Amino acid sequence: MTPETAIQYLPGVGPRRAALLSQELGIDTVGDLLHLYPFRYIDRGSITRIADIVPGDAQIQVRATVQKVRLYARNNAEIPAENVKYNTVSRMSVIVADDSAEMEMVFFKGVKWMHPRLLPGHSFIFFGKPAVYGNRLNMVHPEVDAPDAALSGRLTGIYSSTEKLKSAGLTGKTMVKLISAALEGVLPALQETLPDYIMKEKGLVPLRYALRQIHFPDDQHSLSKAVYRLKFEELFFLQLSLLKHKFIRSRNSVGLNMPSIGPAFHACYNALPYDLTNAQKRVIKEIREDLRSGRQMNRLLQGDVGSGKTMVAVLSALIAIGNGYQTCIMAPTEVLAQQHFANISRYLAPTGVKAALLTGTTGTAARREIHAGLEDGSIGIIIGTHALIEENVRFRALGLAVIDEQHRFGVEQRSKLWSKGAGGVAPHVLVMTATPIPRTLALTLYGDLDVSVIDEMPPGRKPVKTICVGENKRIAMHNFVREQIAKGRQAFIVYPLIFESEKLDYKNLELGYEEIVKAFPLPDYKVAIVHGRQTPQEKDFNMDAFAHGRADILVSTTVIEVGVDVPNASVMVIESAERFGLSQLHQLRGRVGRGAEESFCILMRGNRISKDSKRRLDLMCQTENGFDLAEEDMRLRGPGDLEGTQQSGLPVKLNIASLTRDGILLNDARSYAQTVLDRDPMLEKPENAPLEAELHKDKYIIRDYSQIS
Ligand code: ADP
Ligand code: MG
Repeated sequence: MTPETAIQYLPGVGPRRAALLSQELGIDTVGDLLHLYPFRYIDRGSITRIADIVPGDAQIQVRATVQKVRLYARNNAEIPAENVKYNTVSRMSVIVADDSAEMEMVFFKGVKWMHPRLLPGHSFIFFGKPAVYGNRLNMVHPEVDAPDAALSGRLTGIYSSTEKLKSAGLTGKTMVKLISAALEGVLPALQETLPDYIMKEKGLVPLRYALRQIHFPDDQHSLSKAVYRLKFEELFFLQLSLLKHKFIRSRNSVGLNMPSIGPAFHACYNALPYDLTNAQKRVIKEIREDLRSGRQMNRLLQGDVGSGKTMVAVLSALIAIGNGYQTCIMAPTEVLAQQHFANISRYLAPTGVKAALLTGTTGTAARREIHAGLEDGSIGIIIGTHALIEENVRFRALGLAVIDEQHRFGVEQRSKLWSKGAGGVAPHVLVMTATPIPRTLALTLYGDLDVSVIDEMPPGRKPVKTICVGENKRIAMHNFVREQIAKGRQAFIVYPLIFESEKLDYKNLELGYEEIVKAFPLPDYKVAIVHGRQTPQEKDFNMDAFAHGRADILVSTTVIEVGVDVPNASVMVIESAERFGLSQLHQLRGRVGRGAEESFCILMRGNRISKDSKRRLDLMCQTENGFDLAEEDMRLRGPGDLEGTQQSGLPVKLNIASLTRDGILLNDARSYAQTVLDRDPMLEKPENAPLEAELHKDKYIIRDYSQIS
């Protein structure tokens, strides 16, 4: 048996269970099974007396005897136990007792399988998380074992299982047996994945030891050593894979060479009404180095809302122009493209460079003219939406593509852009995003992109006063918005729209809109509304009305998040704020505070919110630092939930390490991987052979990021 042996040939598995293991847990080989680590350990030496249970405890086990079993139908009527049809059962209640007290075990699923086992008078060990429902102590879906089982006095690993697996007999206990068999079968011949010198330097335990201990730990100390080794290994190979990929790509990718800066850049720069921030200067330098490196630039520019990314884009475009190339700037929405066009045209005034706007609504005649201007090179910068990547848009010499808010563009659309580069060479790519992602995570999420960060705001930006209030302050909130409107300001009112509860959310939005229209009636007030179910025309019409001050209030779902610049808006009201992630709240808040007036963000929260939610909302009120908020968001919700990262996701799936919790180890692993590659970029040296071999495993073959932007 080897780690590659198909799981069905492991004694005790067979084809049926193999299919289930693959389907439910993604386990196809014996090696995969070895990497199914326990998600938790319990000290199975100890049994808790029912009378001693504190509800809300972590998982515990009790040894108790079944007293009474009741089955209930969906309408809560009790079903007689004789001749029971399990498909009509919605809940099974099992009263158990030890010599100290009684409690209830509750099953909503797997009744068919559990009911015949849990006979009154029989004793079992029940293992689970105790809670209180009504007045009664209970456990929902406890794990059930024979009464004499498991009193090993050692740490016992708990494996994740599903109802389907359980019903095929693949219970936690069976898993333990299978894993034990897999260890015996495979471990002796298992190759070490890390070279000696790394193990020594890092003080890591050998792989075989780690695998045995992670499943069957001798004690807490050996378990910790095993976990550390396996986490390091995982993060290290992840980073090694990313960095090697990056090395190969940068070696292979030819880029348009842009050695000069040119007069247009200087003309614009010298006419700037303000000094660039140090962060802007640094980023422009980084871009300038990329543009003259002879390799294709592939850079992610992160900067908080209002940090001045547009200026960086414009100056980069002017470098391209100084070298005879054109630039396209893509925005995710029509309104945003218009706004970019208006701003950028202003910046370009002293340069003589011609810019044009191309969107879905550009008329035929104008379109024809723009196409011609792009082909003969008289248009230096083209700003637009998806319309830019249409087939019939051709450039004389496209040298730079700037993409604003990268997550709104699909991979395919981006690769279309690539094919438009001058002389068939892909243009340099600058992706701009306002989503603050902690740096190490960004490096991991965005694979081999280089990352620049504008971590400094232009001077003079006013803080946004943020408060969080409950339902009882709704009238006060309306009054406040009225006051602001009376001062000539405008207000955003944003409703959550979560995919899973879309229907209900639209309902809330509708109700909210009605309420607002009632509270802010015509002709004194005008309210615009924007949401995802409108046609693009309706959306643009409403957005435009607000952007140009024809509406006082914009009620919307989060579509404004990648939003318009309305400096006159001074209030951002966020409904059900607890349902948003911190990063998202931060983005929304960034929509105000752009003008000269003092601005406000009012977080409306529900009556009953969790501790975590409260913490998040408090933090919002305390800080305006996007990176701090992003770190906290990630800590609380995990990286998968970070706004803007859903689509890119992780390049590989992590099994044991966590990008959130193991940040220090991640940095360590990254610098380690970098050191290894610095000495041996292609991993050709004999001592690195195990590394190279490991990288060829599926797990570490990352998706090709070179196509992404
Ligand atoms: P974002 O990063 O959100 O795209 P923008 O580029 O729209 O930010 O800039 C926000 C505002 O700040 C704009 O009005 C812009 O003119 C202004 N701005 C940009 N850079 C500076 C600077 N260095 N000093 C002062 N104001 C600046
Ligand atoms: Mg912007």
